[in-house]
Amino acid sequence: LLSLRGIRKVYGDNVVLNDFGLDVEPGECVVLIGASGSGKSTLLRCVNLLEVVDDGVIELDGVDITDPRVDADRIRSRIGIVFQSYNLFPHLSVLDNITLAPIRVHRVPRDVARARAVEMLERVGLGDKASAKPDELSGGQQQRAAIARAMVNSPQLMLLDEVTSALDPELVGEVLDLLRELKSEGMTMLVCTHEMAFAREVADRVCFLHQGRPLEVGPPAQVLDDPQEPRTREFLRRVS
Ligand code: ATP
Ligand code: MG
Repeated sequence: LLSLRGIRKVYGDNVVLNDFGLDVEPGECVVLIGASGSGKSTLLRCVNLLEVVDDGVIELDGVDITDPRVDADRIRSRIGIVFQSYNLFPHLSVLDNITLAPIRVHRVPRDVARARAVEMLERVGLGDKASAKPDELSGGQQQRAAIARAMVNSPQLMLLDEVTSALDPELVGEVLDLLRELKSEGMTMLVCTHEMAFAREVADRVCFLHQGRPLEVGPPAQVLDDPQEPRTREFLRRVS
């Protein structure tokens, strides 16, 4: 579904991604791990066209989305992204947060957008919070609302960047449950996390980033429990 080849991303003289390649199959969950600053978030932003790559090809369903002629808004409507901080607009209700992009950017009729948003809120267990403002929700509820917003266009791919790391420990579970559910429904996911337990549980494959490249990629039982590369071992020793 997603194919990254030869991705290079440079900030000034900081080479963040260097000849990065990875394929993600439909329905697969690939979890990116690696030291702080290793380029995990940058990679997700490149896939969502929030950053322009300096070199390489990103194919979604066989179409090179780095081609400057592609309609970035249309591509983004096929890719949901959720960040660590929920990025909900504080002055809008939960429902309006979810319908904003569909109505404004994708020209979905208002009543259709609202019906879809209500359906998504019910799916994430927030059916009764549609008219609440984000600050009236718990952190876990806000993050579930952000996931509902990312899901409302029925994306083919979900990008999740440390979606539980801003949450109080007792709220992490409800968000992880939701991600497990998405996965069981066959959603394709590319996830950054520092939570090895989560990686072990939901990842089909784990990808360890080091110096801008995927140094070790494989099933969690291999990469997390029996890493072959000394760098991977060292990283896992430090985070465990
Ligand atoms: P963390 O685990 O802390 O979230 P990360 O793996 O997500 O780290 P990135 O946020 O992708 O790392 O950052 C990779 C490198 O790129 C860092 O050295 C960072 O300073 C640099 N960087 C990221 N965004 C920018 C930017 N907009 N301008 C300049 N440098 C940036
Ligand atoms: Mg990051």
